[in-house]
Amino acid sequence: MISVNNKTCTGCRACEHTCPKKCISMKADTEGFLIPSVDIKECIKCGACDRVCPQLKKNNAPECSEAVAFHFNNTEINKYSTSGGAFAALATLILENKGIVIGAAFTDVNHVNHISISSSDELYRLQGSKYVQSNTLNTYVQAKHYLDDGRLVLYSGTACQIAGLKAFLDKDYNNLLCVDVICHGVSSPLLYEKYIEWLQEKKSCEVSLYHFRTKSDAGWGHYGKIVLDKKKEQLFSSNDPYIKAFMTGQNYRECCYECHYANRKRVSDLTLGDFWGIQSSYPELYHRDGVSAVLINSIKGKEWMEQLNTMACIKAVDIEKIIPYQENLQHPTDRPETRTDFYNGLKAQNNNEYMKKKLLPCVTIDDKLHALLPMKLKYAIKRLRKGF
Ligand SMILES: Cc1cc2nc3c(=O)[nH]c(=O)nc-3n(C[C@H](O)[C@H](O)[C@H](O)COP(=O)(O)OP(=O)(O)OC[C@H]3O[C@@H](n4cnc5c(N)ncnc54)[C@H](O)[C@@H]3O)c2cc1C
Repeated sequence: MISVNNKTCTGCRACEHTCPKKCISMKADTEGFLIPSVDIKECIKCGACDRVCPQLKKNNAPECSEAVAFHFNNTEINKYSTSGGAFAALATLILENKGIVIGAAFTDVNHVNHISISSSDELYRLQGSKYVQSNTLNTYVQAKHYLDDGRLVLYSGTACQIAGLKAFLDKDYNNLLCVDVICHGVSSPLLYEKYIEWLQEKKSCEVSLYHFRTKSDAGWGHYGKIVLDKKKEQLFSSNDPYIKAFMTGQNYRECCYECHYANRKRVSDLTLGDFWGIQSSYPELYHRDGVSAVLINSIKGKEWMEQLNTMACIKAVDIEKIIPYQENLQHPTDRPETRTDFYNGLKAQNNNEYMKKKLLPCVTIDDKLHALLPMKLKYAIKRLRKGF
């Protein structure tokens, strides 16, 4: 019988796929996060679920000490990436080598699931950060199948998803490259689904796309974008209640506040993040279309990075210049008091009532005023505050 509970479980699904009796299924808890549920009539108490669970072990990965600044030269592909397109460049190379790429994609406007692709035509689906927990579905099993077949596999996800994959595979594969993101936490898929439904009601139109992060003339990292009725585009920043709740850490999965991976011990070959602070640490490497900070955590990761030299601008940097801008490489996000009852009523209340009580108050008057300022002014204020 599995020991992990809804406070500690990350929802990776390694236990479900490992159970020899197939008696574990994933069910959404009251907050909408998936947790394992055991059919006790079938369970033979073999303990395989506990043995595979990464949350019941320590993170023993080595500490990362190497990093590069990364900007993918392919402007056409890079425009769909969140920062410097490190993921898209790697994926392009893997696909050129007839490999498989697995990562998080919108399967419709309000659902994010892990999918596998084998063609560059589908790459755009995996690009871009989705600030909601992605469901890994049966991608661990698919990855194993491709790996055993000798295909190259790039698996991308949060560190806890990579830890789950590695535990499930239980052996090293030369043909597997794992990439994770610097992650502050993930929010509930149910909350995201309900938020999109509420937006549609409020705006009386179809939300065709909701991009958590988009690039604009002002550069990267400032805005998200919503597309209404397949044509009308609206940018949003901290005045979007879902984004604001997410950025202030109010709606994360409980395990995120105790994350085993919010430090320099990286479980993947490469860790990707935004290169925040680059204008002060390496102004010569700044690029308006985005720069990724890539932590190189293994020899395999380093070798793959070297192969990208002709496709991208890659420069070795001092990791100590990255860490101060990345709280989640230092410690997990602090759990705010508001988290305790954040999800109360999500299932029971009607959408409007819930959003009014829990999500809308996340946006303050200051946020609304801030959103009205022209980007240049906002940026000047930010520079003044941060001293660069
Ligand atoms: C939930 C979350 C929190 C993040 N927090 C930070 C942070 O605190 N600091 C920071 O510097 N960067 C953070 N990032 C990473 C950052 O947003 C960019 O992904 C990173 O800069 C890499 O950019 P890129 O242009 O190389 O690739 P991108 O185009 O962003 O692609 C990166 C990969 O992320 C994967 N991905 C996207 N959404 C999810 C998801 N929900 N679950 C699992 N995998 C996903 C995709 O499959 C893709 O392979 C976060 C990303 C996510 C998803």
